Amino acid sequence: MHVGTAKRPGLTVPLFVLPTAEPRGKHGCANSRISFNPESAIEVKCGSLAHGRAKRSGIEGVPMTTETATGAPAGDKAEKLPSIRFNHDKQHFESTSPAAIQVVVNGMTKPLSLTFQLTRACNFKCIYCSEPPGIRSLPLEQLKGMIDRLAGMRRIILSGGEPMAYRHFWEILEYARERFEIVVLSTNASRITHENAQRLKELVDYVDVTVDGPRRQHNAIRGHYDAVMHGLMHVASARIPLSVICVYLPGNQTAMHYIAQTADAIGAIKMKILTPIPKGMSKGLFEGFVSQQEIERLREFLDSEKRINGWQTRITISDWMRIGRGHAILVEPDGRMVASPDWVEEDCVLEIGNLATETAEALWQKYPYKENHLNKYLENSLIVA
Ligand code: SF4
Repeated sequence: MHVGTAKRPGLTVPLFVLPTAEPRGKHGCANSRISFNPESAIEVKCGSLAHGRAKRSGIEGVPMTTETATGAPAGDKAEKLPSIRFNHDKQHFESTSPAAIQVVVNGMTKPLSLTFQLTRACNFKCIYCSEPPGIRSLPLEQLKGMIDRLAGMRRIILSGGEPMAYRHFWEILEYARERFEIVVLSTNASRITHENAQRLKELVDYVDVTVDGPRRQHNAIRGHYDAVMHGLMHVASARIPLSVICVYLPGNQTAMHYIAQTADAIGAIKMKILTPIPKGMSKGLFEGFVSQQEIERLREFLDSEKRINGWQTRITISDWMRIGRGHAILVEPDGRMVASPDWVEEDCVLEIGNLATETAEALWQKYPYKENHLNKYLENSLIVA
């Protein structure tokens, strides 16, 4: 399929050819709202053991003793972002100050949030997978070294491939737990058993799981519907905070409706609707980004259904045109750091550098989309239904 270009005011974006089926996206991102007050401390509202452990990470002023890859105590590198707190009840960052994003950016030395891919191996074969196999993971000690370099960053999202398929998954998860305020697991849920859920409950702040429709639609896109639902039920029964992710395909409003019902029934705090990006297996599948008109129709539909059905799950919709280029920062299993999605780049990512050989601070300096990054994670550029 060819990739052409389409224009919106001020932007040139690629065109993608949408086939007959309905594919897309991948695991999710985050959101939030922020504020800047140089005098105030970071607030963390939480009572769970996982969150309590996060408080030992140095982020709230308790020094860390762990050595970083560069030999310096990780606590010395803790990002002193003022007035930014993570609201666990809404699952997003928020701010208490009206300071301009640029002011906040100027005070940052590391990302607010980052997706860390442990492996590209996966037991699923989703038709739209944006992060397919093909990149080998660095040895465990090097992965730990990269995590040390990030220590002090507010949130890490452990992802893949399927992160629970990574051989040293639990060791890395425990390692991350001690170094970050917010630890998220982005998983296909197929490996979440009753026992694993009990363990995860102590180690993660929430999990992201993708559901792409009721049984038939989900199986046509991702497969393994029963495995995903069983995993979700273990998550719910262990009372692990949950976000359900799904990808919006033009014309599948009804599937969104079923997914929202599923998310609400299982107690998900949030349902995150992504629109497709031309990356990985998705490349060549789509002719264009979902239009703002289509997204607005979806928002109105879900607004109405939420009222009618009394859903309590919070629903967010990502419109890439509104969010802007490269808001998300990914570290791939070999250490390459990229900004994504960046649709003017051939692979829809902009390479920033490599965390195995460069410091997080140096990479953050080179990262060109800092304002988009903050606006997304503060929910300034997200649509909330
Ligand atoms: S579950 Fe596996 S195949 Fe599916 S999108 Fe995620 S990494 Fe790709």
